[in-house]
This record gives sequence, structure tokens and C-alpha cells, in this order.
Amino acid sequence: MPKPSDVLSDDHAQTDALLRDVCAQASQWLASMPARPVAGGALPAAPIHHDGGARAALDEFLTRFSAGLAASAGPRYFGFVTGGVTPAALVGDWLASVIDQNATGSADSSAGALELETIALFRDMLGLPDAFNGAFVSGATMANFVGLATGRQWLGQQAGVDVAEAGLAALGPVRVLSAGAHSSTVKSLAMLGLGRQSLQRVASLPAREAVDVAALADALAAAAGPCIVVANAGTVNTCDFDDLAAIAALKARFDFWLHVDAAFAGIAAASARYRPRLAGWDAADSITVDCHKWLNVPYDSAVALTRHLPLQAEVFRNHAAYLRGEVEPGNFLQLTPENSRRLRALPAWFALRAYGRAGYAGIVERNCEQARWLGERIAAEPRLRLLAPVTLNGFCFAPAEGDAAALLARINATGEVFMTPTVLFGQHAIRGAISHWATTQADMARVWAAIQSALPG
Ligand SMILES: *Cc1c(COP(=O)(O)O)cnc(C)c1O
Repeated sequence: MPKPSDVLSDDHAQTDALLRDVCAQASQWLASMPARPVAGGALPAAPIHHDGGARAALDEFLTRFSAGLAASAGPRYFGFVTGGVTPAALVGDWLASVIDQNATGSADSSAGALELETIALFRDMLGLPDAFNGAFVSGATMANFVGLATGRQWLGQQAGVDVAEAGLAALGPVRVLSAGAHSSTVKSLAMLGLGRQSLQRVASLPAREAVDVAALADALAAAAGPCIVVANAGTVNTCDFDDLAAIAALKARFDFWLHVDAAFAGIAAASARYRPRLAGWDAADSITVDCHKWLNVPYDSAVALTRHLPLQAEVFRNHAAYLRGEVEPGNFLQLTPENSRRLRALPAWFALRAYGRAGYAGIVERNCEQARWLGERIAAEPRLRLLAPVTLNGFCFAPAEGDAAALLARINATGEVFMTPTVLFGQHAIRGAISHWATTQADMARVWAAIQSALPG
């Protein structure tokens, strides 16, 4: 047998010491979070040939990379919808690497059962029925992909075509109706062969991002043929919700697959105060909920939920003599785009076990209150305009005069906070979302001071 390189065997002998070092460095990193500039920067160049072992690589990482990394795991990173990492989730994530299971659902490990238990905890926290089969995927984009792929298969079934076998051409064009479909849905349509142009934008309500349900009914009535409706529960600019119950009620009149993209706002169902916003989502055929956003587990993690396990397996079936072929919950190899997959459920299992519904209701309600507080200040500041009421954890504003991009650049350059640009109702704007378990009122005061310091005169 060939001997491993000396460097590798030295590393092996030092694994314990290395883990202790990394642990100390990780603690320092976490402790530095409140003081670090929130936005990161470029990576200094370095020679590419190295074989100095893990410790040399760690030293180089710390000196070259770490200064340029964003403090996106910290409490004032309001770009996109970015959650942090709770202590329990961090423990789970480290262990997922340590135990390094291939979570295919194979019978040689309890990993599949652990993932199923995690899905059950997740459904229970969000008040979703057991009829939803769940599987962890890398993010909401892939969860949307799984939901829409299963929807495509269902449309084929209605028309007597097995799309997974015969290909999409055998079914013909599909229409996808949505008012505010997230860009990742559009990307999924391209990946699925449905095509970006299959998306037909339905009117939203006046000054809202939520769909006008009457316009949706008209669009459903207007053309025959296979149809998917993508309903949105939490839009990225104004955190608006489609009326999911009213959309689900349209199923009595029209045949369509209902996919609900609740990427970040699905977690709001942990709170009794916000759960009513999601009323009706249990009538969906498929649902997307991200975990690396408001659940505050590390990247990359989301749950794809569908009510149609056999159809999901028709799409994602992976047949080989050496693989378990049963169509049943937990046989993830037959249900997800990946073949090999990490035990992504473990950080979520730790987080759900450790904090439960009450813990997440607290995070959701705190973040929403923080957004509301900031929105009030923005609305009262004559040099700013709040572009939509703050109804959840996000806020969207623009300068009363001048260029939103220039103001955003000045705000982000303070290093105190990071927000992202957007266009809302045709207007360039600045948006942020607060999704971090550890964000405090003191953080909010720092953010407001940073915004004020960036305003002209
Ligand atoms: C973030 C987001 C997505 C995409 O999620 P990823 O986890 O980045 O793949 C999809 N839909 C909505 C509504 C989102 O907020």
C-alpha cells in the first residue's frame, strides 16, 4: 500500500491539536464580529504552490483571507436576507463534517432517520401537515427547482405524459403565473427546460408586491393548457405575502400546481403573531423554506416540501442495482437532485431541538420589531423616504433627493452595516432585512447612526 505523504501523516498525528487551535481561532472570530467592518474586501494574491500541511494553511488563511471576509454571520449584515448561526446550529454543522455521512437515505446509517426527524420537527414548528414530504437541499433556489420539477411531472400526469421519461417536448408549453416570483424561480425555469419565457407576470395589488387574485383568476381562465402558479410568501423588497388561502381556493375552479416560495418568511410561522400571514399554505402542492436565512443555520441549507412523493421520485429517481430504490420518505437519493449529499439536516436538528418554536418565535418577533423601529426613524427623517410600510423584518427606502446608489455606498462604507440595492415600483432604492438571532437594540442604534452619518448636510 502506498504511504500517505509525510505532511498528511503529520497532520493526522496532530488532528487533536489542530482542532483545538481552530476552536480558539473560531472563538476569536466570533468575538470579533461586533467590531469587524461588516462588508469585506479583496483577497491579496499569493504564490500557488503549497504543501505545508494544515497548520501552514490555517496560518495563511488567517493572514490572507480573514480580513477580507464579510461579517455576514454578524448582527448588522442586512444585505439580502442573511441569517447568522446559532450556537446549537454551529455545533451541528461542525459535527456534520466530523461524522461525514453521505445522507442518501441508505440503510447503513441512522442519518436518513435523523433527517426525517428534523423534517418532522420543522413541519411541527411551522404548523404544516405530515402530508408534506420534506428533503434538505442546498438553498431555496434548489427547493424551488424541486417543487417546480415535481409540478412539471404532475402537469404531465394530467395530460397522460411522463415528462421524466419522454421529455418536456411530449407535454408542450407550460405557463407559470406569478406576480413577484423571485429571480431564483426564473433561473429554475431555465434549468427545468420550461424556459424563462414561460413565466407570465400577473398584476399585483396597487402599491403592493402581492398578487391581485382577481387578475390571477383571469389569467387562469384566459388560456387552457398546463399551468403552475408560484405564490410568494415574503417578497424580498417589501416582505409582502400573496393571499395564499384565496389562491388555494382557485383550485376548485382551475387545475394548476401551486408552489409557495416562502424562502425566508416561512420561518415566521413559528410565531403565533405572524403565522396568519401564511394561512392557506398547507393547501400548496410544494413549498420552499430556507434554513440558512431566518432559521439561522449555516450555509447551505433549505427544505423542499411536496405533497406528491411518488411524482417527486419519478423525477429524481436514480436507478442502479446497488442503490435502495424504494419510493418512501427518507430515501433521499430518489427524491433530490443530488446523489451524494452531506448531512445538512444536522445543524437544523440541533437548532430545532435547542430552541424550538418559542426560540424561533422570539427571533422572528424581535427582528420584526427592530425593522419597525428603524422604519419609524426613516419615515420621520425628512432627507429619507420609506417606500413601503414595514410589515415584517425588511425595510426599503430611498433618499428624498439624489442618488440611492451613492447613499447606499456611503452607508456601507461606514463598515457599521451592509445593505443592498434594489428597484421598487420602478424606483432605485436601498433595502435591508434583519434576520439574525443576536441583533440587539444597540445594534439598531448603531445602524441608525451610520445611516444618519451618511446623509448629506
Ligand atoms: C433568498 C430567496 C430565494 C433563493 O434562495 P437561496 O437560498 O439563495 O437559493 C428564493 N426565494 C426567495 C423569496 C428568497 O428570499
